[in-house]
Amino acid sequence: MPRLDPDHLLADLDPEQREAVLAVRGPVAILAGAGSGKTRVVSRRAAYAVATGAVQPGRVLIVTFTDKAAGEMAERLRGLGLPGVTARTFHAQALSQLRHFWPDRHDGEPLPDLLASKLPIVGPLARQLPGHYRFTPAKDLADEIEWAKARRVPPRGYLAAADAAGREPPIPADLVERVYAGYERAKARAGRIDFDDLLLETVGLLEADEAAAALVRARKSWFSVDEYQDTSPLAQRLLELWLGERDDLCVVGDEDQTIYTFTGATSSFLTAFAQRWQGAREVALVRNYRSTPQVLALANRLLAGEGRAKRLVATRPDGPVPAIARHPTAGDELDALVGWVRARIAAGTVPAEIAVLVRVNAQLAPIEAALTRAGIPYQVRGVPFYERPEVRGAMAALRRIAGSSGRLARLRGRELAAEVEVRWRRDLGLEDDEAAARQHGDEARERQASLDTLLAIVDGLLDADPAADATNVLADLEARAAGERDGAGEGVNLLTYHRAKGLEWDAVALPSLEEGLLPIRQAGEEPAALAEERRLLYVGITRAREHLLLSWAETRPGRSGGDARRRPSRYLAALRPPPAARAAPAARSAAGRPPGGSGTTAAPAAGDPLFDALRAWRLDKARELGQPPYVVAHDATLAAIAEARPTSLEALWRVRGIGPAKAERYGAEILALVTRTLDAAEPDA
Ligand code: ATP
Ligand code: MG
Repeated sequence: MPRLDPDHLLADLDPEQREAVLAVRGPVAILAGAGSGKTRVVSRRAAYAVATGAVQPGRVLIVTFTDKAAGEMAERLRGLGLPGVTARTFHAQALSQLRHFWPDRHDGEPLPDLLASKLPIVGPLARQLPGHYRFTPAKDLADEIEWAKARRVPPRGYLAAADAAGREPPIPADLVERVYAGYERAKARAGRIDFDDLLLETVGLLEADEAAAALVRARKSWFSVDEYQDTSPLAQRLLELWLGERDDLCVVGDEDQTIYTFTGATSSFLTAFAQRWQGAREVALVRNYRSTPQVLALANRLLAGEGRAKRLVATRPDGPVPAIARHPTAGDELDALVGWVRARIAAGTVPAEIAVLVRVNAQLAPIEAALTRAGIPYQVRGVPFYERPEVRGAMAALRRIAGSSGRLARLRGRELAAEVEVRWRRDLGLEDDEAAARQHGDEARERQASLDTLLAIVDGLLDADPAADATNVLADLEARAAGERDGAGEGVNLLTYHRAKGLEWDAVALPSLEEGLLPIRQAGEEPAALAEERRLLYVGITRAREHLLLSWAETRPGRSGGDARRRPSRYLAALRPPPAARAAPAARSAAGRPPGGSGTTAAPAAGDPLFDALRAWRLDKARELGQPPYVVAHDATLAAIAEARPTSLEALWRVRGIGPAKAERYGAEILALVTRTLDAAEPDA
């Protein structure tokens, strides 16, 4: 092992980072904003502690949030000349401890196999629910079970716990309890344990078995936890059991990036760290090293909108102003997104340095299909595309065509494409009509979407090479699957906000910033859920080093088949530059416009006379009534009016934030103001 030089490890750190690294003994909490070097400090601090002899490398445990982050952490440490340090998730460390202790305590039986996902069990249980509850997405129920288990609440305790926590479950709590109990029974029957059980069982073991606890504690004595703002009570309990009476713990996090409360995590362990640990040292990192000032300006506005005083301070040089684009249709938005990706690549950004973030996995399929058509390589985090059961099924059907003799084996071009489609329809339930698939719920829709994507890929291959037969097509698909498996794809990254945590790219696109998607429909008007949605957007924005594209579409295919009108995400209003900054015409031209987007206007976020006029009116009104302005209307409501440009009372009612009372009280004034301002601004309209 190369000798670690402590001074060298400190050389490229700023004063606050250095202070954190020098604090080699816990308890230490590092609270800092996105991109300020928290993760960097975690690895550096471990290296420094080893280099100065404060701890043996084998006794270090660094806890990361994902396996991928663990891999990267281990690599960083190796790069610093420090192999042999353990970097793992809570779950991975628990798994290794359980594997070790389980057989001795279970008559020699090995640890049961792990259930990769709750959905295959929860799905059928959901469909047995009464009435329309059977359409509840299995994912929502699985999250609810996870929430309970993260608090060590068993099925029979769920009702009371949900009630005490003021929880609003996706279906009535007694039905959740029924699904939860059924899930636990089915899992036990199948002889499986799930990810939550890894932590539950390890906590149970270490609580009950002093010898096991002593052994575990003898091995690891120095702990560091990254992304600590998303720690569940269960993980926290496990951490405390690992520590025992000791306090060599360093936690690192940013409460503004808490995005897993829906599964039971809470930032309170981070924010209350100093209370819990007497004499704990708190270090704040203050500079952002990741993003341009322009990207950070957006992030800071979002923070301010949440009422947070914290600001990210830029160290990087200026970059392009982030674009906020509005498109007439979802199709236009997709075209513009592909155009943007292409332009980035043409300008020299490698595809792997570009990311497109979405709120839910189901949003990925059309993007995949569009990138496929454009011949742009991409990689999907989450369930890898070619590992999805329906995609595997579809490949198997293709393999049957390739393996048969006679007519089928001779099929080429369009004939082959048609045969593939017929078989997928027959064997896999690919539906003609997207609307029909939608009726079967979110999972059916995702399944449908991946089959559509695969079909688009096959069509594309056959268009490019009409002489290709089933064997050729299959070989191409298998090469893509292999590329995906070993990450050799190195394509544009497609992933959810949740998975983007801790990562960074040169260019980031955040499409479909619409009400119902971000914030997601299930958040309703619940303040805690909405705050988490806003934090998701904050995480998304702060992933970008340089280029950032935000967009939304005015219409999008709706659940019932036809096009549905969409409203911009309420958070876009918060991203609006302050009035002084907006006066500059440059800001307006920086807002992306759809190619040839006739009839569209720049989003008000780029400066809008109507919004300004509405604010001026609100100020007058507030003075007249002797009330604060927000009582008259929130900024978000004014922004929504400016977006919708209502010219009738009906249209005004449809604007979010305008209830019947407001419409009655202010309707006439607002409509007059809208007409006046638009007439003045667009004499030719
Ligand atoms: P997040 O909140 O998103 O997890 P973070 O606080 O963990 O972010 P890092 O990922 O550690 O931030 O660092 C962000 C980027 O800034 C990385 O590319 C890192 O290498 C770089 N960086 C951090 N500190 C410095 C520094 N002192 N000098 C130069 N670059 C730095
Ligand atoms: Mg980090």
